[in-house]
Amino acid sequence: MAGNSKNPETIALHAGYRADETTGAVAVPIYQTTSFQFRDTEHASNLFALKEFGNIYTRIMNPTCDVLEQRVTALEGGAAALAVSSGQAASAISVQNIASAGDNIVSATDLYGGTWNLFKNTFKLMGIEVRFVDPADPENFRRATDDKTRAYYAETLPNPKLTVFPIKEVADIGRELGVPLIMDNTAAPILCRPFDHGAAIIVYSTTKYIGGHGTSIGGLIVDGGNFDWEKHADRFPMLNQPDPSYHGAVWTEAVKPLGPVAYIIKARVTLLRDLGSAMSPANAFQFIQGLETLPLRMREHCRNAQAVAEFLKGHPAVTKVSFAGAHEDAEQKRRADAYLSGGYGGLVGFELKGGLAAGRAFIDALEMFYHVANIGDARSLAIHPATTTHSQLSPEEQLATGVSEGYVRLSIGIEHIDDILQDLDQALEAAGAAKDAA
Ligand code: PLP
Repeated sequence: MAGNSKNPETIALHAGYRADETTGAVAVPIYQTTSFQFRDTEHASNLFALKEFGNIYTRIMNPTCDVLEQRVTALEGGAAALAVSSGQAASAISVQNIASAGDNIVSATDLYGGTWNLFKNTFKLMGIEVRFVDPADPENFRRATDDKTRAYYAETLPNPKLTVFPIKEVADIGRELGVPLIMDNTAAPILCRPFDHGAAIIVYSTTKYIGGHGTSIGGLIVDGGNFDWEKHADRFPMLNQPDPSYHGAVWTEAVKPLGPVAYIIKARVTLLRDLGSAMSPANAFQFIQGLETLPLRMREHCRNAQAVAEFLKGHPAVTKVSFAGAHEDAEQKRRADAYLSGGYGGLVGFELKGGLAAGRAFIDALEMFYHVANIGDARSLAIHPATTTHSQLSPEEQLATGVSEGYVRLSIGIEHIDDILQDLDQALEAAGAAKDAA
């Protein structure tokens, strides 16, 4: 019964695992092992030759990670997933799996600062060009596309701008031109299912809402199994031509019996094998624990964040509130309602009247909120991006990603709303005083 459910609350508890076959353990065991004994030499060579699928070595697969992969695949309605060591690894591998030196991707400008750095600097050194475009007009993606474009990339609810990405509009352009859309859905698990709107690949930093308790760094890549890589063979030579790193395997052919999973199997057996950014089974266990209560927590995050956005909107020390549920622009409103359901997320940004001095004073005065470089924790968190997460960007780049000097980002937790508002209120008073003194 549970296995057939379409309800995220049930899937998050049951998909991919029932009980341990030998001990009957109900909690998913942590398979804390580097390697797995082969039955005999034939078994070993079959596994390496991909004639048979099974566990070889934890850098490439692990049964605890496998449950996490299956569970998130089921939640997203995808074909298969790959657990990796961090959200950054997920973003990097999702692109490197189909793009190499001389290729390009088109990305939305509204990005997490770490992804911006990866795209702007590290990918450039590797010869992969990233063409940044403003997602306000989806047609910008078409205009930036050429024969060497291998993917479109965007965040569902970009941190810190919090304007919802036009998923279907850009996915449709990509399907017309043969370009898959990769969506970073880190800020909106449960609330948005990007495959339902045409995305081909989803990446997550599981560090955030999926883990939910601030204990572990991890990432996931989910393959929608809905993109026809063979139809666009010229655009994707890495999936359609013999791979010299795997006895000349042509991935779209080699894994056909397993379903539409060429993209994700290639990522596992080549990039995870070579780059080594594997998720540890102990961390996978933490993410599985987190998933169990994710639908419940997202409801509370959304409810509290909505109340915080309303409170901030009416506050005299605040000039602007960024919240997916509070956009005044009609198109932004439409996108939020079209792509998010069950709430508008747990992130709230706002600008203080007093700029940099007020931003610092506000953060320093917080008592219950934690001042950390993280989002998606059960606890309420705050940060001043201009001096932290986005400090390595130029002032122009900061503005392009939505960060001004007085901008503060809140990740609203699941504490009682009265305590959240009380802490914000007293810190806003301190920020007001700092502005007056300046
Ligand atoms: N994507 C988004 C939207 C993020 O907010 C972050 C981290 O803040 C990442 C990716 C990177 O994830 P990680 O810190 O797990 O590498």
